[in-house]
Amino acid sequence: MAIPYRNILENIRLAFPQPISDRVHDSYLVHSVMRAMDEVDALKSQRPILGERKPLDYDLARQSVVPEQGMTIEAVTSDLVSYCAGLTIPGHPQTQQNVVPPPTISSLIGVLLASLYNPNLSWDEYSHRLSLAEVEMVAMTAHLLGYDPNSARGFFTFGGTGTTLYGVKTGLEKALPGTMEHGVREEAVIFASDASHYCRYNIAGWLGLGSKRLITIPTDTRNAMDVGVLGEQARSALRSGKRIAAIIATLGTTDAFGLDDIAGIIALRDELVEEFQLSYRPHVHADAVIGWAWSVFNDYDFEANPMGFRPRTIRALAGVRHHIQHVNLADSIGIDFHKPGFVPYISSLVLFRHGEDIKLLQRPQEQMPYLYQFGSHRPGMFTIETSRPGTGILAALANMKLFGKQGLQVIIGHIVEMTQLLREHLEGHACTTVLNRDNFGTVTVFRAYPPGVDTFRIKEKELHESLHREQLLAHNEYNRQVFHYVHEEAMAGRGAVLSLTDCYRHTDYGEPIVALKSFILSPFVDEEIIEVIVKKVLEAREEIEG
Ligand SMILES: *Cc1c(COP(=O)(O)O)cnc(C)c1O
Repeated sequence: MAIPYRNILENIRLAFPQPISDRVHDSYLVHSVMRAMDEVDALKSQRPILGERKPLDYDLARQSVVPEQGMTIEAVTSDLVSYCAGLTIPGHPQTQQNVVPPPTISSLIGVLLASLYNPNLSWDEYSHRLSLAEVEMVAMTAHLLGYDPNSARGFFTFGGTGTTLYGVKTGLEKALPGTMEHGVREEAVIFASDASHYCRYNIAGWLGLGSKRLITIPTDTRNAMDVGVLGEQARSALRSGKRIAAIIATLGTTDAFGLDDIAGIIALRDELVEEFQLSYRPHVHADAVIGWAWSVFNDYDFEANPMGFRPRTIRALAGVRHHIQHVNLADSIGIDFHKPGFVPYISSLVLFRHGEDIKLLQRPQEQMPYLYQFGSHRPGMFTIETSRPGTGILAALANMKLFGKQGLQVIIGHIVEMTQLLREHLEGHACTTVLNRDNFGTVTVFRAYPPGVDTFRIKEKELHESLHREQLLAHNEYNRQVFHYVHEEAMAGRGAVLSLTDCYRHTDYGEPIVALKSFILSPFVDEEIIEVIVKKVLEAREEIEG
C-alpha cells in the first residue's frame, strides 16, 4: 500500500525537539524522558542491579537488521530501557566494584543540553559559549591543581587514555622534533611504573614508538614507582643514544591508588638534562585521572579539621595531599571527571603547564581548507578529534558548580572515611588481612584465609618467600571461592558487589596475588553496608569449610 511520504514526514518531525518555541511539544519531550525514567524505575529493587541479569545471546544479536518501518517514540523508549536490564547501579551503596561513579542530576542535564544543539567544540563558530565553558573549566581545574591559569592551557578529550596520549605525543615532539611530519625516525622510549595504567601499551603502539619501547619501572610495596630504578634505566637509555619521549607518573593507580613521587621524578628529570646536556627537557606527564579530586584538600586545615573527619581519615587525606600538591610540577596532567567527578562518560581533560606546548601539535591551516576561516578559538587545529562534543565539558562544569570545593571535600572525605572503616573491620578479624593497608585511597584490597593461618605474618611470607609458593597458590584459589560466594550473595541483594583482582601484585618470586577488591565511590555508602561486607566474607569461609 502506498503512503505518501508527507504523511510519514509529519510524524518524523514530531520526533524532534521543535526548532521554534512550542511549549506543548516541550512537555511531550519532557514527558518522554519521564516515561523512560518510570520504566527504568520499574527495574529497581533493593538490589544493586537493574532488573535481571540474563545470559547474552550474541549470535542472535548478530542477526539484527534495520527494521523496514519505524517505531513510535514510546516503543523505542521501552526498547531502549530494556538494554538497561542487568546493569549494576553505580550509586547503590552495595556497589563497590570499580572506579565507576554515579552521575549527578546536574551533570545529566549538562549532557542533555550539550547534545540538544550539537555544539562542535572544534571551533567557537560552532560552539560559541560552550567554548567559553571549556576555557572556564580549564582555568578552574588549573587553579585547583596549582597550575598558573595564565600560562596553563588544556582541552577535553576522549578519556583518560586520550589525556596520556596527548602527554606522550607532546613529549615525543619535544624529544624528536618534526615527528608529526616525518614520523618516528630515531628510537625514543617511555617510562612508566608497573602499576601504571595499561593504556601505556596502546599509546606506545599507536604513536608508532612500539610497545617494546616502553620501559616499565618496578614499584615499591606502596605501589609507587621506584625513582632510583627510574634514574638507572633513564641513564642507561640516554647513554645508548635513545631519547626520552615521556615519563608517565601516576597519581592514583587504578587498582591500588599508588602515588608516584612526582617531585622526585621532576628533580631526576632536571638532573638528567644537566648531566647529559640534553637539547630537550624530557616531558613528565602526570596521570592523575583518579587522584586529581584529592587536590580539593590542598588548603584544608587538617589541624583544625572543620569537617570533623576521623583521625584515620585525616591521616589518609593528608597522605594523598603530600603527593598531589606537587602535581603542578608536571608538564601535563590527565584528569577524568568521569571517575571521582561524578559525571557520565566521557569527561576527560588534559592540562598543559606551559600552554605553548600545544603548538607542537598544531596542523597548518592549508590542511583544513573548509574550517577556521574566522573566529578566535580553534582547538580543532591541534586536537586529534575532528568533531568534539560539549557533553563532558558541561557535565564537569555542572558538578564543579553543584558541589563547589566544599562538596567535593565532603564526598571524597566520606568515601575515604568509609574505606578506612572497612579496613578497620577487616583488620579486626584474624582471618582477613588488608593488603594495601598503608594506602590512602578508597580501594581496599584484601585476602581471606582458612582457619589455622597466622594472618599477621602470612602477607610478608607469601610476598617474599618462594618457600610459600604452594600455599600462596592454594590461598589464591581460596580467595576466588570467597569471591564467588560474596558475589552471588550480593547479586541476590545481600552484601556488596565487589571485584576480584587476579593480580594485585606479583610476589618476589613471580606469582600473582589474587585478592578481593572493594572500590568505594558512592556517596550513599554507610556504616551498615561496611559491616555486612565483613559478615559476608566470614560466611563465605564457613560455607567453604562446610
Ligand atoms: C581509568 C584510568 C585510565 C584510563 O582512563 P579512561 O578514561 O578509561 O580512558 C588511565 N589511567 C588511570 C590511572 C586510570 O585509572
